[in-house]
Amino acid sequence: MRRWLLTCLVLGCGLLLNLVPEMRTIRETQAAQRPAPQARTARSGDDDPSPQLPALSFAKLVSGKSKIVDLTWGINEKSAFWPGDGYAPFELHTIATLAEDGVLSKTFSSPEHLGTHIDAPNHFEPQQLSVDQIPPEQLFAPGVMIDVAPAVSMDPDYRLSVDDIHRFEKISGRIPDGAAVLVYTGWSRYWGNATRYANADAMGKMHFPGFSAEAIEFLVRQRDIRGVGLDTMSVDYGLSRDFAVHHALGKAGRWGLENLARLKNLPASGFYLIVAPMKIETGSGAPARVFAVVP
Ligand SMILES: [Zn+2]
Repeated sequence: MRRWLLTCLVLGCGLLLNLVPEMRTIRETQAAQRPAPQARTARSGDDDPSPQLPALSFAKLVSGKSKIVDLTWGINEKSAFWPGDGYAPFELHTIATLAEDGVLSKTFSSPEHLGTHIDAPNHFEPQQLSVDQIPPEQLFAPGVMIDVAPAVSMDPDYRLSVDDIHRFEKISGRIPDGAAVLVYTGWSRYWGNATRYANADAMGKMHFPGFSAEAIEFLVRQRDIRGVGLDTMSVDYGLSRDFAVHHALGKAGRWGLENLARLKNLPASGFYLIVAPMKIETGSGAPARVFAVVP
């Protein structure tokens, strides 16, 4: 009797042990079949949930039914660039003409950071990705556009604050995960006039708006952004000496877009951003073609 009981016990345990992997597989299958959790809503103390992003249809895009906004400036030898040592204007030379050579061909030279361009995370920080190393999926993002032009019209040294972001989210909803945060300062109206765009005073100090380092810290830590952009020549405002915004972005492995065009033509949210920089190996940045798609 005792022996019989023992046999039963051993057999039962064996059966149970055999079943365990089986049960795990079932559990995993059920988990996989469970619907994905809904888009994250407000965390405690946070503002409104992100509004539902309209679906992006490639068929609609290529048929011209979606609005495409080209956020890129054309570049030429007069285009504004950072007035630092070693920086030089864009240059374009014709090396062959249709009349003489049967083919039109040109050569150009340019700083990486001229015209509409991307700052790679390695621009101000060591051990960060160069422009060619930014994964492609990081260059596609849902976009939001924060308009601070009224504040800038009163103060050219204006910097986007955390309060501006909270105000924006109260009206337009939470900044979605993986977003590109674009700031319209109104400074793009001076593009084409490099002197006015730099807006240097008698002491040579430049006055144009930018982000605050606190706003970047908030966007990187409290939100999960892919990158930022604006319509001035630097994500740091003109008076900056420490380039705190560039450092904060680079440390977090995020990119910045500078000298964006036509931000005013964008809605506050509900659009997608496509950033296509030249793939300069080891580059600290590169001229980029930047499109917004409003589905
Ligand atoms: Zn730059």
